Amino acid sequence: MRRFTAYVLLTFLFLSGCSAPADPDTAQESIQVIAMDTAMLITTYGEHSVTAAYAAEDRIRELESALSRTDPDSEVSRLNAAGGEAVEISGDLQTILSQSAQYSQETGGAFDITVAPAATAWGFTADRFQIPSQTELDRLLPLVDSSQVSIIPSLDSSGDGPKATARLGPGQSVDLGAIAKGYAADQLCKVFDANEIPRALADLGGNVLAWGDRPDGAPWRVGIQDPAHPDDKNALVGVLEIVDSFAVTSGSYQRYFEQDGKRYHHIIDPATGYPADSGLTSVTVVAGTGSGSGAMCDAYSTALFIMGEEKALDFWRSQLNGSLFSLVLVTEDGRVVVADKINRFAFAPNEDSGYAYETAS
Ligand code: AMP
Ligand code: MG
Repeated sequence: MRRFTAYVLLTFLFLSGCSAPADPDTAQESIQVIAMDTAMLITTYGEHSVTAAYAAEDRIRELESALSRTDPDSEVSRLNAAGGEAVEISGDLQTILSQSAQYSQETGGAFDITVAPAATAWGFTADRFQIPSQTELDRLLPLVDSSQVSIIPSLDSSGDGPKATARLGPGQSVDLGAIAKGYAADQLCKVFDANEIPRALADLGGNVLAWGDRPDGAPWRVGIQDPAHPDDKNALVGVLEIVDSFAVTSGSYQRYFEQDGKRYHHIIDPATGYPADSGLTSVTVVAGTGSGSGAMCDAYSTALFIMGEEKALDFWRSQLNGSLFSLVLVTEDGRVVVADKINRFAFAPNEDSGYAYETAS
């Protein structure tokens, strides 16, 4: 419907002679896409801004219908329902499963898509929140083990032969909620590239892609939410200034329920089956756009949240000596820790926030 409106409007402008073809310097399109349980906002600039914005929407919808855990017809649902049998998978799912295996291994199992049975036990899949018993978690925890997931790649590069297949361990299921939006952001880079988009901003809900710079030549400004005030979108711990980068935030404030005065959030520590209790309230990972770094930022922000401050900073230092990505950590005890060895971004603290600001090296 929205697409129809846009085309009608453009046709009217041409027919009426009121407007010249899109001025490549000023043309822009902004669309909202409700997908992956999120209100996404995509703004593209340049001559092909309209085509690119709707191609981005199409790509997101295609990914959603393949990767959703709640749509019974999705590829992921078919894989989860296969009871340990091999299932044919698309190139997208094959890539995400391979990336997920790599990130699980790199993060010592903090990131693990097979956490799904435990996440479901807390009710985070169907929004029917509950505290599972320890007996139930003890029964489910052996299923949280990504080493039991196998992927058999297709040997046929033409695409006409047998497809790749994947197989889970018996009783296992996967949840791609911690990587799917980052992977989608990587795919938007391809769409923008193919449409020669000079600049764009895509906010996929906690996953921001800043493509190029702003029309005025300044960096894009991305606020980091104050986890202590999740309902006040103006409450920020600070603002990042970025160009050609992903900025991805994981936080305990993004999805949670409260029972008997205690908060239970959606990021599950695979070691315990419980919401991670690491002393962090949010983790933002920033990296330059490039092959697969959107998925990487998404997976790492989830994993580093589980690791906690000390292990997260050790991990940061261990990856290309701190230059693979940069970090902003918000701690439960009221500190904001910025780790950015190569001046990937400028960070403007919100001095009124009450947080103490530190730099890690
Ligand atoms: P994010 O907002 O990217 O940190 O992803 C959180 C979502 O990922 C949750 O809502 C779950 O669907 C899923 N998830 C929770 N814990 C983990 C984990 N340890 N590893 C991978 N995915 C997880
Ligand atoms: Mg994530």
